[in-house]
Amino acid sequence: MKKEYFEELAKDIAGKDGLDLFGKLLGKIDVSEFKLAERLKLSINYVRNLLYRFQDFSLVSFIRQKDAKKGWYIYYWTFDEVRGKELLIDLKKKKLEEMKKRLEEESKNEFYVCPNKDVRLKVEEAMEIDFKCEECGSLLEKEDNSRTIRNLKEIIEKLKEDVKNVSEMKVEIVKRKKKVKKKKKVKKVKKKAKKKPKKKVKKKPKKKATKKKTVKKKPVKKKTVKKKAKKKRVKKKK
Ligand SMILES: [Zn+2]
Repeated sequence: MKKEYFEELAKDIAGKDGLDLFGKLLGKIDVSEFKLAERLKLSINYVRNLLYRFQDFSLVSFIRQKDAKKGWYIYYWTFDEVRGKELLIDLKKKKLEEMKKRLEEESKNEFYVCPNKDVRLKVEEAMEIDFKCEECGSLLEKEDNSRTIRNLKEIIEKLKEDVKNVSEMKVEIVKRKKKVKKKKKVKKVKKKAKKKPKKKVKKKPKKKATKKKTVKKKPVKKKTVKKKAKKKRVKKKK
């Protein structure tokens, strides 16, 4: 069941391709984005794009590793089930509230509709225009919204069940086996940067010299990984 709920979430967030991507992430840890692209037969940029969409909701995290040969960074991604569960509950609850409100609206109001489907108005609004459609002049008819009400009730029941199910869902906490493997090259650089040989340094070394020597970490190639405000964007269902 967990899988189905997460799949629904993945699809909401990143569409059909997002769903496929999620399929390659679930139950795994640190999956290379290049492998993902290869397995999904999608371009690396597009895959990153999908991943960033997940990341907007903190649903994935990554580590990166420098590729020794090529010199660039490879990102390894992991889906966060704990966060997934949290988000699902939030979204389901929000939807539930929304549907309850709609049900209330439908139940306590009478609606009038144009036979040509131009408008749908509450009775008070319909009265104001003498029950005449402003578009086509037809007389508005009282609508039987019992089916809408029935549908809404069903949706509400389903959502309640979902909230309960998701709340009881057991999720895996991400445990990374190892931290980023340090490639030899990287190690060397780091060592230099950290400990400078102390021996010589009795007197203050000349400034010029030291300044040049300090090995700075290479400026990481900027890869902006946006972390936008959570939420908001998922809304679109249906
Ligand atoms: Zn009309």
